Amino acid sequence: MNNLNSNVPCATPSEGAQDQSVTSLDVLVVGAGFAGVYAVHRYRLQGLSMLCVEAASDVGGVWYHNCYPGARCDVQSFDYSYSFSRELDQEWIWPERYSGQPAILEYLRHVVTRFDLRRDMVFNTRVTAARWDDEAARWLVETDTRRRFSCRFVVLATGALSAPKDPDFDGLKDFKGQWYQTSRYPHEPVSYAGKRVGVIGTGSSGLQCIPVIAETAQHLTVFQRTAVFSKPARNHKIPPEVYAEQRARYPEYRAELKKSVGAVNMPAGTQSPFELDEAERERVLEAFWNNGFLNMSSAFKESPYDLAANAIVVEFVHRKIRSIVKDPQVAESLCPKDHPVGSRRPCIDTNYYETYNRPNVTMADLKKDPIVRITPDGIATRDKHYPLDIIIFALGFDSICGSQTRIDIRNGEGLSLAESWADAPLTYLGYLTPSFPNLFFVMGPGNPSVIANCITMSETDSDWIGECIAWLDRNGKSRIEADEKTAIDWMQLVSDIADKTLYVKANSWYMGSNIAGKPRRFLSYLGGYPSFVEISKRSASEGYSGFKVS
Ligand code: FAD
Ligand code: NAP
Repeated sequence: MNNLNSNVPCATPSEGAQDQSVTSLDVLVVGAGFAGVYAVHRYRLQGLSMLCVEAASDVGGVWYHNCYPGARCDVQSFDYSYSFSRELDQEWIWPERYSGQPAILEYLRHVVTRFDLRRDMVFNTRVTAARWDDEAARWLVETDTRRRFSCRFVVLATGALSAPKDPDFDGLKDFKGQWYQTSRYPHEPVSYAGKRVGVIGTGSSGLQCIPVIAETAQHLTVFQRTAVFSKPARNHKIPPEVYAEQRARYPEYRAELKKSVGAVNMPAGTQSPFELDEAERERVLEAFWNNGFLNMSSAFKESPYDLAANAIVVEFVHRKIRSIVKDPQVAESLCPKDHPVGSRRPCIDTNYYETYNRPNVTMADLKKDPIVRITPDGIATRDKHYPLDIIIFALGFDSICGSQTRIDIRNGEGLSLAESWADAPLTYLGYLTPSFPNLFFVMGPGNPSVIANCITMSETDSDWIGECIAWLDRNGKSRIEADEKTAIDWMQLVSDIADKTLYVKANSWYMGSNIAGKPRRFLSYLGGYPSFVEISKRSASEGYSGFKVS
């Protein structure tokens, strides 16, 4: 089997599906990941007529599609869960500090059953197009099953990391082995025993699957283009007494989280490395390295934005890598030297660096010897040929706006969203874009989205959108879109804040630079969760200032 799509129960237009009826709704939610699931719950409580359409055959989103070996959350389970129901908090038990993909999927399935949300969900149905009818003030939405929807509002909960970056290597179509993408992994078990496996990509997804695949593969070759900063996750089971304590203080804990910059329990260093002697610096760095969840880049108060302070952390992580990885050449390849720590998404791992000490693991450093093509039986780099039975692509995503612009969405003048955002996505607060009325985004560009706790953001965004729709209805208004000048100013602010950080110093999916032709621009609001909530609430209390309502 060498076509991954045949493995994945994602929707493709099916011959049997010929439903051309038009369903009329208040709201169509697109996507049934964390964001879409909460949106269904929220809008149902509000009394809106609503359906959620999902391309996959079940809920889960990221946690449905990315079921590769070792897939696991890198935010602690107590933080990476819904806050909307105290009962849910009390009855659910997270087994581990960082939940594995199966546990998170099980949680989402439990939520959907517990709140009876499935009856408002349509699976195996991909939204392909949406047209705004200006006269009727409604969206006409088309799907690949030919079922159509006419609705007053569309809420795109399609995910910031859900549009895969597909492999486009020369020769792939002639590869005789099996190949998979981490972002669309088969739900059936894949056996690596006795197989020569290659993994291309060493971001968070690659880092998680590499150690697990190495345990059973005959041989694993890791094709690394850019080395990343990682550190041990130090995952563990959650002891019952810790759970009991957490249960008792969940409401206060969640309230505290919402006061923090990213709505997560992740304290940053408060000391300057330049005011500490060497032993004290080392103590701080060791404490951050050993904690698992604390960001190395935040070890010192200046290290997230000051290159000299950051370099002290970089040097420490390099030393750690060299001390773990026995082959000095491989260790050097694994030491990131072309970007500051924290300028790309920080990774945490279980035995990642240790895996390179295994006799059945080889590192192919693509900076020294790039991939030329895929051959029928392996991968050819400029200088070598690696015979392989299985190739796993862990290439990442067309992030933040890819899932929205891949849908053919057109406004009243026939302009597509993809055309409108070709130079740069434009929204106010990430919620609405100019000239596309009643098209809401959950965690869209300009929102804190992937920089903050995504589960908290899902709830915050859907609540804001729900309140906005209620306000429009109460005030006899039928349409809302972002005011163009306000949106331009907002996205400029988003950019200006990012320019003061080290994010702009690296090529990454945060900057859009992982996708050819995508404008290089930081698209998430870094001003902090509390300030975002304040600004968005203020707009609402001012009758949605910054938006055009009619
Ligand atoms: P998604 O979960 O991506 O759901 C979007 C859904 O929309 C998908 O099911 C998709 O099939 C569907 N869809 C898209 N387009 C269409 C269409 N046209 N028609 C119909 N359906 C459509 N964040 C963290 O904070 N901590 C983590 O540890 C973490 N780990 C991650 C691990 C992986 C492997 C990935 C990829 C992301 C991770 N993230 C993590 C970020 C993650 O994106 C969010 O945490 C969160 O799960 C996003 O939920 P969502 O509902 O917004 O989007
Ligand atoms: P990613 O971070 O974008 O990494 C993609 C990797 O593929 C990079 O190493 C990249 O190298 C490489 N790559 C891309 N195209 C290539 C090519 N043509 N040739 C060779 N190498 C190529 O993607 P990801 O690992 O899927 O992670 C994306 C995000 O999802 C994460 O940052 C995180 O937010 C989330 N995530 C979280 C977890 C978790 O720990 N819970 C797990 C997985 C994902 P270059 O950098 O050189 O382009």
